[in-house]
Amino acid sequence: MNASAAHTPKTKVTALPGDGIGPEVMAATIRILDAAGAPIEWEYAEAGGKAFERGVVTGVPRETLDSIARNKLALKSPLETPIGYGGKSANVTLRKYFELYANIRPVRELPGIQTPFSGRGIDMVIVRENVEDVYAGIEHMQTTTVAQCLKLMTAPGCERIIRAAYALAEAEGRKGVTVAHKANIMKLTEGMMKRMGEKVAPEFPSVKPGNIIIDNCAHQLVIKPEAFDVIVTSNMNGDIISDLAAGLVGGLGIAPSSNLGDNAAMFEAVHGSAPDIAGKGLANPTALLSAAIMLLRHIGAFDVAAKVEQALFVTLAEGRNLTGDLAPRGHGVGTDAFTDQVIANLGRISHMPSRDYKKLELKTWPKLTAHLEPNTRELVGIDVFIETGLSSEELGKQLEELSQYSMFTLTGIANRGVTVYPATGGETFLVDHFSCRFMFKTPIPLTGNTSEGQPEISYLVQRIGAKFPWMHIEKLQRFDGKDAFERPQGEG
Ligand code: NAP
Repeated sequence: MNASAAHTPKTKVTALPGDGIGPEVMAATIRILDAAGAPIEWEYAEAGGKAFERGVVTGVPRETLDSIARNKLALKSPLETPIGYGGKSANVTLRKYFELYANIRPVRELPGIQTPFSGRGIDMVIVRENVEDVYAGIEHMQTTTVAQCLKLMTAPGCERIIRAAYALAEAEGRKGVTVAHKANIMKLTEGMMKRMGEKVAPEFPSVKPGNIIIDNCAHQLVIKPEAFDVIVTSNMNGDIISDLAAGLVGGLGIAPSSNLGDNAAMFEAVHGSAPDIAGKGLANPTALLSAAIMLLRHIGAFDVAAKVEQALFVTLAEGRNLTGDLAPRGHGVGTDAFTDQVIANLGRISHMPSRDYKKLELKTWPKLTAHLEPNTRELVGIDVFIETGLSSEELGKQLEELSQYSMFTLTGIANRGVTVYPATGGETFLVDHFSCRFMFKTPIPLTGNTSEGQPEISYLVQRIGAKFPWMHIEKLQRFDGKDAFERPQGEG
């Protein structure tokens, strides 16, 4: 060891070699980083297939969680979720355990990788909210024919991901942040993301704010992908458009990502464990290597990151010693030969410059959670979800009778979000799951004690429950005089 190396402070990073081709791409990546002089000390840990086989139901042993908690950084190869051993995804376990709320997916045209979009200058980052939305997995069968999944989005969850997108735009010298949403349909959940974008934007005057409806975003990503800079979006939208965008520049096989939280960060390839080529020495380590480049930047090792990135760009551009997935048929080499080629190219500069990055700081923002603090809050009604095979007319009649001595008025019944009582003349296909809206005759102000109005609700629900099975109840509130709930389609 030479004197300078002995004094370079090293950052400890947990390395998870994972499953399938994971150990091969991890070994290749670490070999390249070590050759480039990356100031990292690796601490190996287990997760995925072997852990499941040993009976660790989450796929992530305690020692691994402890290692990441200590180091706050992980480089992760793909992990399998074997069918038959518990069924939880080790990837999801890691994201949720460390609250890695920001999934960052850079999408950049790579030299030498020919796609129908080559030459367009695609260079964007997709920032996907990683822990909320329908991916919380809160699902219930409501009746034997109706399944329900709750789409939970929170103000702090939206705020921190929007802030992460702006912080990233600033760190990478990017010009615009576009919030991609479906606020035109889901006004409260997706609308929260859009509104938060509008609220946070003025704090970042050097970045141009924008918003786009997610379906148009998918369309524009194919028509004019070079127009995007940073896109920030909710979990499911992000899941879909980030794969779409990866497809524009060469596919999932070369796409890296990071998962960032306030206290830990995990870097990984987007692809899976490719069991068909596992153990054959054929895997392409580009995606994990690119994730490792993101890791280097995350720890502030910008020079080493640029050195490795440039060596990778030169290797891809020259097209010598590429793995089989990138080389012309019959000309592919193995993982080791590709790795040797990248190492041989360390120190060379490609025609595609590396961006000028600054350190991305995801602060625990002091102002987080201070939204939606209305001056007045009222309880104005309830929706009771009932299972019945009755016609909407008959159900309506019976509920009118049941509620006549209560504090409520039945104002309507909906089936799958469409008003069916009073009848609208529409051709709604009915299932056995009705949402019955009862409004308080006199709204109840909620003055700090949010249980106000519950005795009245209990009285009504008890009466309904004596006749019909109900699945759940939703309270209808008004914040500052504005409805904090949606109206069903066709409500008069
Ligand atoms: P996959 O592992 O990404 O593999 C799909 C195909 O892509 C492979 O068969 C291989 O195609 C090619 N490929 C992927 N990565 C490659 C690489 N680095 N080098 C060369 N070729 C590569 O997707 P999958 O088959 O759907 O998933 C397999 C397992 O991975 C599953 O257990 C899944 O749960 C897991 N998975 C994990 C993660 C993660 O840990 N983040 C992500 C996705 C999937 P060829 O046929 O051309 O060889």
